Amino acid sequence: MESRNTSRRKFLYNVGLAGLSVPLISSGIKCAGEKKTNPQMMIDENKKAGKLGIALLGLGGYAGGQLAPALRSTEHCYLAGIVTGTPSKIPTWQSKYSIPDKNVYNYENFDKIKDNTDIDIVYVVTPNALHRDFVVRAAQAGKHVICEKPMALSVEDCDLMIAACKKAGKLLSIGYRLHFEPYNLEMVRLGTKKIYGNIKKISAGFGFTIGDPTQWRLKKALSGGGPLQDVGIYCVQGICYTTGLEPVAVTAQEGPKTNPGKFKDVEQSLTWQFEMPGGIIAEGRSSYGEGMNFLKAEAEKGTFELTSAYSYSGQAGYTPEGAMNFPKIIQQAKQMDGFALSIKNNQPSIVPGELGRRDVKIIAAIYEAMGTGKKIAIN
Ligand code: NDP
Repeated sequence: MESRNTSRRKFLYNVGLAGLSVPLISSGIKCAGEKKTNPQMMIDENKKAGKLGIALLGLGGYAGGQLAPALRSTEHCYLAGIVTGTPSKIPTWQSKYSIPDKNVYNYENFDKIKDNTDIDIVYVVTPNALHRDFVVRAAQAGKHVICEKPMALSVEDCDLMIAACKKAGKLLSIGYRLHFEPYNLEMVRLGTKKIYGNIKKISAGFGFTIGDPTQWRLKKALSGGGPLQDVGIYCVQGICYTTGLEPVAVTAQEGPKTNPGKFKDVEQSLTWQFEMPGGIIAEGRSSYGEGMNFLKAEAEKGTFELTSAYSYSGQAGYTPEGAMNFPKIIQQAKQMDGFALSIKNNQPSIVPGELGRRDVKIIAAIYEAMGTGKKIAIN
């Protein structure tokens, strides 16, 4: 991972790209063997088609590996701009996605995006601790905002973000892609419509073995915590949307650290138990040292579950009647199109800031329970 320091960010203030080697294709001039593309013409075509322009902010693994490719398949929005602290990424992104120079920003000049009518939505895809300030700045620049999960590191920060978007009259959405994914939506249907009777017990687990010990996910100041913030949040979500309920209290236990140096700042793994309305037993697990990916509901008339629940590469699910069978979709495309449609139809996002705030509140309670060893009420 690249080292990030202030001096690295003090690069070209404007996007004149002085001093950068920008491929000619970004100016619409044909290069040998490459298709001629005029970025502004493409923007104009997308606008004419009624699509909303998205600027991705923070061009890391998720933005580059999932969101930008998904924006090639969206019907109601498209990739119109980028915001980055790494100048060396700019030429590749511009040529790959036909982004005109005027739609490229850095973290210093980002507020000027307010004057850019190509950009309707800013999608914040940075380390968790930076979500708050970028969301507030995007709202103040008059843009709708999508913020990646977890929304922020504290409920107070979530309140600030929600208030900034409200004040600007803009929508705020969280990157909860599974609310648009058919297998998870089937879990919601089976659970909330009580297709197999009342749920008696629900369990969820998400974990993987984390690599690079220097990455921001292992630094509490940037991540807010370990696997619970990163992937355990999906288990919190899964338990809530499958039951249609929210926990009222929680107990939690930290798992052992097999590599205390690597996990000096954050938990390596943890387990928690929610007290749910109606006496449903609910438990979650997340880990940076063990692979798992499941959501399992045990109901009066049988068990329904996803054994690959949260991945974006595909789901697998079973009910008492057999395997679930839904088409594979590009979750991020559905999610971003869903938000674009909410904006167009002047309706709230189905995954609004308030939902992100709820999960930040629950996560804070889980950490408090883990730290104190006590049962913590969730108001
Ligand atoms: P990466 O580390 O791969 O990328 C983060 C990017 O943020 C960097 O490449 C960089 O972009 C920018 N950045 C700005 N400031 C910093 C800083 N101080 N340190 C590190 N990076 C910085 O992370 P991911 O893309 O995996 O995750 C980004 C966000 O997306 C997180 O909130 C994460 O939880 C969420 N996420 C969501 C997923 C989902 O399925 N919904 C999946 C994966 C991640 P640049 O160089 O352009 O400035």
